[in-house]
Amino acid sequence: MIKNPIPWPDGAKCAVAITFDMDADSQFHLENPTDAIGRVSALSMMRYGPEVAVPRILETYKQLDLQQTFFVPAWCIENYPSVVKAMVDGGHEVAHHGYLHESPLAASRKEEHYWLQHGIKTIENITGRRPKGWRAPLYHFSGNSADLLIEEGFLYDSSLMGDDIPYVLKTDKGELMELPCHNGMDDWPQFAQFADFDYWMPIKAPSKGVEIFREEFDVMYKYGGLWVSVWHPFVTGRLANWDKIAQLIEYMKAKGDVWFAKMEDIALYVRKCIDDGSYTPRTDKLPYYINRVSLTPENKSN
Ligand code: ZN
Repeated sequence: MIKNPIPWPDGAKCAVAITFDMDADSQFHLENPTDAIGRVSALSMMRYGPEVAVPRILETYKQLDLQQTFFVPAWCIENYPSVVKAMVDGGHEVAHHGYLHESPLAASRKEEHYWLQHGIKTIENITGRRPKGWRAPLYHFSGNSADLLIEEGFLYDSSLMGDDIPYVLKTDKGELMELPCHNGMDDWPQFAQFADFDYWMPIKAPSKGVEIFREEFDVMYKYGGLWVSVWHPFVTGRLANWDKIAQLIEYMKAKGDVWFAKMEDIALYVRKCIDDGSYTPRTDKLPYYINRVSLTPENKSN
């Protein structure tokens, strides 16, 4: 089912990266610039992430001896520094996720570069090192994103959805590892219904919502894929959801031959396999298209 399987380390059947995007209330301020600070109930729901959920998630990771990756908008680092310090102290990776969860698709190249550099500095200040990875807010990877990430020395991106295993993005500027995710692995469709974002998906029972993540894991385990969650502390970290998710993580751990790793370690490992010839990745050359695709009279077949 997977044409070019990766030899995961120590004979592991698949790799698992539990990634959280700790967005907290960042995007809410962008979307409601005039009255966000007065919308206290909505703010309380999103602040549940850094205040309650992340400490709970970190405690579970500690009990299960896991080090994982958190994508954090730089504004959240500035506003919730102690919880981000706790991530660093626990040995977890803090990766780049914009400044205020702004969309790169709405930014010029210069603006996108400015906020990328601002986030790099903020992460450097709190972790002592440059971030290795980036996930575009809203999955809004722009036509400039790959070049900017390569220019700033990033090792990987995790915003795109083009494969079941890591692959390579190539531009005229160089290369970048892609650790793909997809929106079936996002927790919003399962567990979120936020009137303040005009987001009206029906909320599933935790036992039902977790099924998609378990089935995604079973198939990655069967065929040797990379399982990447795109979860949010204020969604998946709610008590009933996290209780079920912790059981799922225990189920995955109990297999005994699953590689749990931070995204940066997965990217480094895959790069090593490419260099020693044990893995030949699929490569996507960007941009996909030079010219706009349109239905002009010249393109019509008759
Ligand atoms: Zn996000």
